[in-house]
Amino acid sequence: MRLSQFHLHTEKETPAEAELASHRLMLKSGMVRKLAAGIYTWSPLGLRVLRKVEAIVREEMDAAGAIELLMPSIQPRELWDETGRWQKFGGQLLKLRDRKEAEYAYGPTHEEVITDFARNELASYKQLPVTFYQIQTKFRDEIRPRFGIMRAREFLMKDAYSFDVDDAGLERAYHAMRDAYSRIFTRLGLEFRAVQADSGAIGGDTSQEFHVLADSGEDAIAFSNGSEYAANVETARAADPGPRPAPSEDMRKVETPTQKTCEAVAALMGIPLARTVKSIALVGGDERFTLALVRGDHAVNEIKLAKLDGMAGYRPATEAEIRAHLGSEPGFLGPLHAKQPIRVLADREVAAMADMVVGANEAGFHLAGVNWGRDLPEPDLVADIRNVVDGDRAADGGTLRIVRGIEVGHVFQLGRQYAEAMGCKVLDDSGKAVVPTMGCYGIGVSRIVAAAIEQNFDEAGILWPEAMAPWRVAVCVINPKKDAAVVEAAEALYQELREAGIEVVLDDRGLRPGAMFADMELIGIPHRVVVSPRGLEGGTFEYRARTASEAEHLDHQALMSRLR
Ligand code: ATP
Ligand code: MG
Ligand code: MG
Ligand code: MG
Repeated sequence: MRLSQFHLHTEKETPAEAELASHRLMLKSGMVRKLAAGIYTWSPLGLRVLRKVEAIVREEMDAAGAIELLMPSIQPRELWDETGRWQKFGGQLLKLRDRKEAEYAYGPTHEEVITDFARNELASYKQLPVTFYQIQTKFRDEIRPRFGIMRAREFLMKDAYSFDVDDAGLERAYHAMRDAYSRIFTRLGLEFRAVQADSGAIGGDTSQEFHVLADSGEDAIAFSNGSEYAANVETARAADPGPRPAPSEDMRKVETPTQKTCEAVAALMGIPLARTVKSIALVGGDERFTLALVRGDHAVNEIKLAKLDGMAGYRPATEAEIRAHLGSEPGFLGPLHAKQPIRVLADREVAAMADMVVGANEAGFHLAGVNWGRDLPEPDLVADIRNVVDGDRAADGGTLRIVRGIEVGHVFQLGRQYAEAMGCKVLDDSGKAVVPTMGCYGIGVSRIVAAAIEQNFDEAGILWPEAMAPWRVAVCVINPKKDAAVVEAAEALYQELREAGIEVVLDDRGLRPGAMFADMELIGIPHRVVVSPRGLEGGTFEYRARTASEAEHLDHQALMSRLR
């Protein structure tokens, strides 16, 4: 690519609205442009990177035996009524009407559509196992779209769905996807961790998230170097002095004191307040909140409040269930999620949260199940939930690390709930109609682009891992308008690199060297070669790796072997 023929539009000023490095650098480099809240145009530059990610995801999905298809973004309401999610999904679901007043959703995910496809297409166990996937635009009407494409409303996701007759098959499909995810993030050159996700009432090893490690991540993840154990502690803002979400409208309205709130929650849980509760802490992300009742230094229990978005694995827990659980271990109930740094709420937030618990239905929030703590390490892992720090001893003898991460992928054993609800059946080998068991597997293709930048940048700009860079090599021409010999040498090198299969961009725009180098650093090209009159005289090229502090002068042969 010749830059003079491309559309590169970088900004000199740092965009004021951007809090995160990735957001700032994507705007500054012109990779994305905002159209509306959480809705972005990918410029030609940004799209090159997005497509790289997409290609790697596609290759690894194919290699893992998944089969690509493409489902519509617009989904009829009737399908969502079948699973009950038209009501339950909550505010993230964008609802639309056509001219005949028929209702539709813009797909935030595709369990309904794929299950509909499956019930029509799959008739026999002989067609199983099968995993379908697509790479497609999703829309979620996030409460707080922020950080650019990191938490957008419109974004690109790879979503895959597996169908099997039995649990062993599901397990195999799940592991195949999980392994493919590891290969994807490894190939992308990212530092990541697979962590046990909070799978609520289902528990166990049925859901894992993949996190790109970055200090700015919204999630906190805990892992021990003594074992493979890692978990998402789902604490978006816990001990983080970083930007905090503004309280919602609801939260601002209520001004009840903490004590009253604690009483309300305790009453609902059927536990005497005086004995158990010191304060209430909130942990949680965007659409899910956890209330932890804190006695002394221990979280004694917690209730998940899921905005009813039909999150797999969460179902409303009955009051009786909560009581039964609490009653089974009177007094101390174990430091559930004790490894989470927990932020003690401001009074008005607590009040608002309790309001949601108590008036759950009206507020659109539901009790969504007690976390039984099954997927957590030993209780002695951490003694003090508010002082869990990096370096604490873990139950497995290792050292506890708490780092921040960005959720870029999620694998989940769904089971039969969707197939059951939608009447999807296949004949098994004895000719009996059985409901297949499903898995779902998502990757935030567009979010990966931002996550990679969060992990790889410096003052000058982006430091792309090679696999994601818009081009691997930039050939910068000094003074192209004045010096024909330089242009000729640069052109020859450009052609030679292209013929060698190296992705190269020729900066033939005729900018001053300073401005040209600044652009190439900003957009993060891993290798830069400068063709200048002085270099030509000495028979060398000036080569600099994006990560190196100094340039080197290399002759043609040394340069080529460096770039290959
Ligand atoms: P989050 O916890 O960040 O809200 P999620 O758990 O709701 O994500 P999933 O339903 O697991 O998301 O979707 C699969 C993947 O899609 C996520 O792992 C994430 O990488 C990506 N994703 C989800 N929401 C967004 C968004 N608003 N913008 C960009 N990517 C997203
Ligand atoms: Mg979400
Ligand atoms: Mg999540
Ligand atoms: Mg998820």
